[in-house]
Amino acid sequence: AADSCASPYRRRVGSLRAMGAEAPSSVAPAAGRKASAVQAEMVEAAAMWCAMHGLVVGDRGNPRSGTVPGVGLVHAPFSLLPTRFPASFWKQACELAPIFNELVDRVSLDGKFLQGSLSRTKQVDDFTARLLEIHAKMMAVNKKEDIRLGLHRSDYMLDSETNSLLQIELNTISTSFPGLGSLVSELHRTLLNQYGEVLGLDSERIPRNWAAIQFAEALGKAWVEYNNGSAVVMMIVQAEERNMYDQYWLINHLKESHGVMTIRKTLAQVEAEGLVLPDGTLVVDGRPVAVVYFRAGYAPTDYPSEVEWSARLLIEQSSAIKCPSISYHLVGTKKIQQELAKPSVLERFLDNEEDIAKLRKCFAGLWSLDNEEIVKSAIEKPDLFVLKPQREGGGNNLYGHDLRETLIRLKNEQGEALAAYILMQRIFPRASLTQLVQGGVCFEELSISELGIFGSYLRNKDKVVINNQCGYLMRTKVSSSNEGGVAAGFAVLDSILLT
Ligand code: ADP
Ligand code: MG
Ligand code: MG
Repeated sequence: AADSCASPYRRRVGSLRAMGAEAPSSVAPAAGRKASAVQAEMVEAAAMWCAMHGLVVGDRGNPRSGTVPGVGLVHAPFSLLPTRFPASFWKQACELAPIFNELVDRVSLDGKFLQGSLSRTKQVDDFTARLLEIHAKMMAVNKKEDIRLGLHRSDYMLDSETNSLLQIELNTISTSFPGLGSLVSELHRTLLNQYGEVLGLDSERIPRNWAAIQFAEALGKAWVEYNNGSAVVMMIVQAEERNMYDQYWLINHLKESHGVMTIRKTLAQVEAEGLVLPDGTLVVDGRPVAVVYFRAGYAPTDYPSEVEWSARLLIEQSSAIKCPSISYHLVGTKKIQQELAKPSVLERFLDNEEDIAKLRKCFAGLWSLDNEEIVKSAIEKPDLFVLKPQREGGGNNLYGHDLRETLIRLKNEQGEALAAYILMQRIFPRASLTQLVQGGVCFEELSISELGIFGSYLRNKDKVVINNQCGYLMRTKVSSSNEGGVAAGFAVLDSILLT
């Protein structure tokens, strides 16, 4: 994913202006001690904790930090304190996870629905077209995935206008931060245990977060289902990855708790070193592969040449378990999200009416751009909408002025260009003052948060082995920034304090 180097943090915290009752989850003045002193001590303790517990990322400033493990580490950006979050919405978000897991699985089996829904997008979006091409090839040979593994993350914001939990998107490929996200919850727990009395906050109100352990468990159980003791898990990675420690946490748990070895390969390496045996076994660098876990392959930049596409096809043709399969990947596109939100579509895939009602309740307004009324409204009031292309990884959406200009231009072109996008109702979370720590420095900003709930799903034919909510990722960003990616430099890692 493209990375912006521009820091969103403009103001270094020099005063205690915002401390006290007005500011949720901020460092409150302590009896007998200056709040500034307590805060400085907490920042230092927190940064130290990160270093000692692997809550780290590669430092942008060090050119080798994305390729050489152990070189150029810096603590991951984090919020100093957990963000308050109502327990009722937390419960609602957790309950949705297994339902979304099942929905993804059901939709993935309907190849015609996927091809049909994305057929217009395909004409104007080359990347989606390439994914659909692989998918069509698999349909043509009637390829079945008996063992299906999903490691998803459904992201939500609390809309202040309607006081409701609304889904931003569902990620089915390369969902990041199961590793570091779990650690941030532990960091906050540790800080509250030490400073909780001073702050008046109870560490027990931070939900436990086992995302890394549970993702590794799902990968490990998938490996067991594949049933080849000499096979490995293959993680597909980008050649340069500053978020490698988030990945290494999973690799570590897989080895320590499940005795499963992981190899990390780029798509280009898979092309060079991989083959599929006549019985379907994927062999890479001489080793049979049980599970292919994608932490790359979600963006056009991950396919700089035909070599990478050919690797993706090779993987898909094999009998290895793909996380995600091409079908699961397509179910996670923004276009499918929008199609599923149309009336009567969920009913095609799910039977349980209560489940359907729960899903619908969290759907924001979503529209395809062949709806002229909505396009007109969006041009008139661009601030009420977000314009989204079929992309992942942050930094791709259009807002406000850009949204309006783009819609006007695409409309005038009169081709199919509009079909590359969807329109979404803009969600407005309430902003609060937050202390964000980046590079050992604490900044205080008006911020908004996005809660991601991880879900794991493993199925072998009719046997559902796992269908769980497993941990969470809170991301907090300065409210003036539209996009939310941590890797892209827009947001910090956070956890929640239930209220
Ligand atoms: P990506 O797959 O690139 O992460 P998202 O749909 O998650 O795409 O959008 C990126 C970011 O844009 C989100 O993390 C969120 O901060 C912001 N965003 C997306 N949709 C909305 C929306 N409907 N209202 C407000 N902000 C949004
Ligand atoms: Mg996404
Ligand atoms: Mg997102």
